[in-house]
Amino acid sequence: MKNIALIFDFDDTLMPDSTTELIRQHGVDPEEFWGSTVKDYLLNGYEPALAYLNRLLEYAGKGKPLGPMTNAGLREFGKSLAPNFYSGLSTMLKELREIAQAVSSDINVEFYIVSGGLQDLISDIPLVTKHFAAVYGCQFGEHPKTGVIYQVKKCVTFTEKTRYLFEINKGISPSQVEENRYAVNKDIPVARRRVPFKNMIYVGDGLTDIPCFSLVKRMGGMAFGVFNPTEARSAKRALLEFLSTDRVISMHAPRFRKTDELGALLRAAVSTVAQRAYLERSEAEFEE
Ligand SMILES: [Mg+2]
Repeated sequence: MKNIALIFDFDDTLMPDSTTELIRQHGVDPEEFWGSTVKDYLLNGYEPALAYLNRLLEYAGKGKPLGPMTNAGLREFGKSLAPNFYSGLSTMLKELREIAQAVSSDINVEFYIVSGGLQDLISDIPLVTKHFAAVYGCQFGEHPKTGVIYQVKKCVTFTEKTRYLFEINKGISPSQVEENRYAVNKDIPVARRRVPFKNMIYVGDGLTDIPCFSLVKRMGGMAFGVFNPTEARSAKRALLEFLSTDRVISMHAPRFRKTDELGALLRAAVSTVAQRAYLERSEAEFEE
C-alpha cells in the first residue's frame, strides 16, 4: 500500500478563522481582541500562539464572555461552524480518493489538519470526523474541580507544525504520541516511513505555514498557498512572502470545486503523485 497525504491548515484555508467566530459569537469584538488585547501580550514579548491562547483563557469562567467553557463546550461550538467551509471541500475530498483509486486500488489518500487554532473547535465537525485521519491544533487543560478551561495544554506554533508532518511521515499516530510524547524522535529508516514527504501535498495560507511549505517542497512534495483576493493585504503578503520567495507552487482563493483553480490543481496533484507512486511500485517489483 502506498500512502498519499493531503495536509491542510485550517483557519482561512478551509473556512474563515474559527477562533474569531468563537469570540464574536460570545460578544467579544474580534478587532479589539486581535488588534489590541492580543497585541498587548505580543508587545510584552509573548509568542503569538501563547498570546492568543492566554488571552482566550482570560475570557473563560463565570461571568466572563466565554462563560464556564469546557473542551466539550468548544467541540459543541465547533459543530456549529460546519456551514462555514469554503465551497466544494466535501466533494473534492471524496473525488481525490477516487482519483487515486482509479490509478491503483493500492494507493491510499489520507487527509490531515495541522492548525495553530484550537483543536477542539475543529475535531468534532462532521465533515472533519468523516474525512480526516487526524487533527493537530492547540489545546486547553481543564480545571480539575470545575472542568473549565484554565491552562494551555498544547501549543502549536509555526515550527511545531512541522513536527506533525514528521509524525505523519513516520506513521506515528496521535494515540502513540499520547503514550510517548517523544515518539516523533523515533529513528525510522527513510525507506520504511509510512508517508514519504514526496507523497505530501500541503495547503495553507499563513505565516505559520512557511516552515511546512519549505519542508514539504524541499523534500519533493507539493505546497499550495491560499489567499483572499478581495483583501489587498492578503494579496500583498501572497506576493512578497510566498510567491516571490518561491515557497509555494502557486496561490489561489480557497475554492475547491472541480472548476475552481485550487480545486482543479489539487485534483491534478493527487493524480500526478498517485501515478508516480504506482510507477515506482511497478519498477520495484520488476527489480525484485
Ligand atoms: Mg491559516
